[in-house]
Amino acid sequence: MNCWHCDQPAQAVCRFCGRAVCKSHAQTMNYIVSVYPSESKKVLKSLVVADTVYCGVCKPQPEPLETPYLD
Ligand SMILES: [Zn+2]
Ligand SMILES: [Zn+2]
Repeated sequence: MNCWHCDQPAQAVCRFCGRAVCKSHAQTMNYIVSVYPSESKKVLKSLVVADTVYCGVCKPQPEPLETPYLD
């Protein structure tokens, strides 16, 4: 598989969308594995993996999106 940006051999795959990227085009971003309430239940805690590979193209949202009800 080749890099999405430059068509050179890819060295990583975006954690978020699956696009392949080479070393020079790969970026990193925190990836939230799961979100759960803390013991006090007043705040949500997140289990985060730092520096996961990100392609720089797709747009991971910082929070879950509401899904509008479809008729
Ligand atoms: Zn590239
Ligand atoms: Zn991506």
